Amino acid sequence: MHSKNVKLLLAAVAIGFLPFVANAADEKKQLAWDTIDRNAQAIADVGDSIYWFGELGMQEFESSKLLKATLDAAGFKTELGGAGMPTNLWAEWGSGRPRIVIVTEVDALPEGSQTPDVMEHKPVVRGAPGHMEGHNTHGAVATAAAFAVKQVMEKYKLSGSVAISFGPSEETLISRPYIVRAGYFKDADAAIYLHIGYDLATGYGLANYAAISSTFTFHGKTAHAAVDPWDGKDAVDAVELMDIGFAKLREKLHPTYRAHRTITMGGIQPNIIADTGQIWWFVRDANMPDAKETYDKLVNIAKGAALMTQTTYDEHINAAGWPQLGNKALAEVIQKNAEAVGDPEWSNEEQEYAKKFQGALKVKQVGLITKVAPLGSRPQSASSNDSGDVSWVVPAGIFSFPAAVPGVQFHNWQAGVTPVSSIAHKGEVAGAKTLAATIIDLMTSPDVLKQAKAEFDQVTTASPYFAVLPTDAKPPLDLNAAAMAQFRPEMAKSYLHKAPRYN
Ligand SMILES: [Zn+2]
Repeated sequence: MHSKNVKLLLAAVAIGFLPFVANAADEKKQLAWDTIDRNAQAIADVGDSIYWFGELGMQEFESSKLLKATLDAAGFKTELGGAGMPTNLWAEWGSGRPRIVIVTEVDALPEGSQTPDVMEHKPVVRGAPGHMEGHNTHGAVATAAAFAVKQVMEKYKLSGSVAISFGPSEETLISRPYIVRAGYFKDADAAIYLHIGYDLATGYGLANYAAISSTFTFHGKTAHAAVDPWDGKDAVDAVELMDIGFAKLREKLHPTYRAHRTITMGGIQPNIIADTGQIWWFVRDANMPDAKETYDKLVNIAKGAALMTQTTYDEHINAAGWPQLGNKALAEVIQKNAEAVGDPEWSNEEQEYAKKFQGALKVKQVGLITKVAPLGSRPQSASSNDSGDVSWVVPAGIFSFPAAVPGVQFHNWQAGVTPVSSIAHKGEVAGAKTLAATIIDLMTSPDVLKQAKAEFDQVTTASPYFAVLPTDAKPPLDLNAAAMAQFRPEMAKSYLHKAPRYN
């Protein structure tokens, strides 16, 4: 045997690939994987159906209905509308501990409509929303993995429960603080957050940034700007002074901070002193206590701007999300299973397609990824995701699955080209297999859960979770309602009308 082959054999033995090292855990995983392979068509149908719904945050009515029906038929207990959000879906099978929750979302993005398989910007419905981050694939992966785990739990009489939390409106950082506040994760032992990516990968530590989104509305008094300006109280002056005030502060902030704003109300016309002015801020940092400290300074600047202009103001925190905290003990389990599952076997056509697409986008023509990324702390991204809050109340694993072409930019029409392709379908299967095997390990290894909890306790004792949303905050249920009402009739012409069923 060639020495390279010996190495491969040893590697295969080490990760339990060969039949003669099969043990009970492998048998369970094999059953989960067979279940997923058998249901490949239904899995693709779930992901594809959600793609064509293309629903914006808080308006995921068709998507959550399809997911609920799929999970109801699969024997799950489902609840739609929890935590005061009509499209918030929770599904669960089993009872008691351990309780493992899959966390994900299925919302689309404004103006994301794109004709699949076309390598240039070509909306199906001009101006309409669409999936240009592939969140549609999340529904496929989560439901398939949970169903496969259920099959294993039934056959092997495992105690505990597997749940899925589909949180609405991830793209606007809305739902998770509310779901956490409502106590859904209180009895959970672990959460696994999944997201589409270029590769099968996990990590640990802080994955991204804390963010606080807040709108300040200043109220003044109108007056004729030429005839009696001294009778006016200029709310737009207050907006400007707030902007200048924060600009002065920037130099004195830690280099990790980010803050950006847009002026959403800036008066009507020059000869009317504006009685209303509005500015919308995002304040971010590498951790929430630091973001909150900067935010509190911003609030003081608003007070100062109001005082200087004799106006008043309302502060409205729209959303707030903690950075995702990846648990190392859980990441190690995900990594082991990602390596056992491996990347999909891409066909030559898929590789050629990916290279051609990359060529069209003028990015490196590397094709599709064929090797599972090594475990290591990925650099912390300055983006934010509201699922971060979950990871501060329960130990959380984070993983991505390979259902996108490397080099495509998310939140761009490019990312709307392949989420219903065979590349996405194969990625969904690899993601579901990794997720199912990970949950089976957690269900059957109390020591790993204990280790994950100890690590979690250590971090959260040093930096305890606190809610940033005011206690009386309510989810914005009408968010994106007008846009969906405008585009849904035209978009509905492309609905697939499928009722995917797992067996
Ligand atoms: Zn996303």
